[in-house]
This record gives sequence, C-alpha cells and structure tokens, in this order.
Amino acid sequence: MEKREFLYEGKAKQLYATDDLNLIIILYKDDATAYNGVKRSSIHRKGILNNRITELIYIYLERKGIKTHFVKRLDDYSQLCKKLNIIPLEFIVRNVIAGSLSRRLDIEEGTVPLNTIYELCYKNDQLRDPFINETHAQALGIISAEELEKTMTLCKKINTLLIELFDKVGIIVVDFKIEFGRDEKGNIVLADEISPDSARFWDKETKKKLDKDRFRKNLGQIEESYREVLERLAKEINE
Ligand code: C5P
Repeated sequence: MEKREFLYEGKAKQLYATDDLNLIIILYKDDATAYNGVKRSSIHRKGILNNRITELIYIYLERKGIKTHFVKRLDDYSQLCKKLNIIPLEFIVRNVIAGSLSRRLDIEEGTVPLNTIYELCYKNDQLRDPFINETHAQALGIISAEELEKTMTLCKKINTLLIELFDKVGIIVVDFKIEFGRDEKGNIVLADEISPDSARFWDKETKKKLDKDRFRKNLGQIEESYREVLERLAKEINE
C-alpha cells in the first residue's frame, strides 16, 4: 500500500489517497480547535494519542460486531481506513448533561437525564454545524428514513458498548459525537474517530475531566489526561 495525494484537511486530521481506491490514510494532527475554530492551539503528541485511542476503541467495537472504517494503524500519527461516502451529520449521544446542552437548557453540568439524549447536527462549516432533527435531515436529502433508523440503532449499541468498556476502566462516558459513512455496497459504517477530542470522559471517582474540555476551559494537563485514557484502555483491550 502506497501513500498518494493529499485529499482534504480538517481541523484535527488530514486525509490522503492510497494506491488502493477503497482505502485512505487518516493522519491525526496535534492541532486543537474549540468553539468552531475560534480557539486554536497545538497540543503536544495529541495526534499520537488520538490515533491510538481510536484504534483501540474501534478494535473493541469491531469485536462486538460494529462495522468501522478502521483497517490498521500505520505509524504514530496515521491509520489506514476504508474509504466511505460520509453522511454529513454529527450524531451526538449524551448520558450526562454537559457542554452546549448544559448552556442551552440551563441545566447543571453533571445532571443525569431521565433518558439518553440523541442529537443531530448538519456538518456544514459555513453554517457552523447547526442543530437539526430527523425530518430536516431527510428533507435535505442527506440520509434516507431507513438509514436514519439504522444509524440511530447503531448509536444506541455503540453507547451501550462504550459505557460497558469505560466503566471497566473507571471512566464515565458523559457524551460523544460520531459520524457514519456508506461503503461501496451501501452498508452503514462507523467513520471518523472516538477520542477525548470527540467525547467527554470523566474519572468515575474524582469526576476529573479527561477530555478536550481541559483545552476548552484552560484546565491544563491536557496531554496527561489523554494519556490516562489511553493507558487505561490499553490495559483493558488485548490486541
Ligand atoms: O459541545 P457539545 O456539548 O454540544 O458537544 C457534545 C459532544 O460532542 C462532546 O463530546 C464534543 O466533544 C462532541 N463534539 C464534537 N464535534 C463537534 C461538536 C461536538 O466532537 N463538532
């Protein structure tokens, strides 16, 4: 497998083509952004940590029957993934109130809602990823009713599996954002990443934040916290 031309640059990742049309290389950058790119910086070794954390979580999810785009890690900063037709939606799952939901509904961070909350955002940088619902998504023609049913079922399964995994390593899965794509046969496949950049993880005992909120809120110990998540997962997931 050979690395070919640069395809795309996002806030935290770069994509490259390979000599295989069905495979791409995803490079995780050290760059960090928050509040839709308003706050920017670089976090030492973040790319390495997120590359590895996503690898471990996707290996675990694959073992539990979830189809993911992950093929294999190539080096510290990059991984080989299946090329997908990405659905431009962000699926947000919330087990504990935090972040934008805490602000929007004025509910104290840490409150446990009566049920799991599922949200959809339309991936569109110009519009700053607006909050939409399932009927908007279908009306925009970006996802079918059948695909919405499949993705929502997958969100529930992935949430249950993540809660189970992280509970074993003493971490609460507060919330996370995932993305899906379609493979060449039209199967729905988990894409993108699951890492402390795209999820909120709190230590079960101390409630210490082990995720990007440390960057958003200038709490310090960012690299150490991401490393903590990686080390706990690495002990639990045998490769
Ligand atoms: O900011 P908010 O509270 O809406 O984020 C909910 C969850 O989704 C957080 O874990 C956050 O890191 C993640 N998220 C993300 N990318 C976005 C929006 C939210 O990874 N564009």
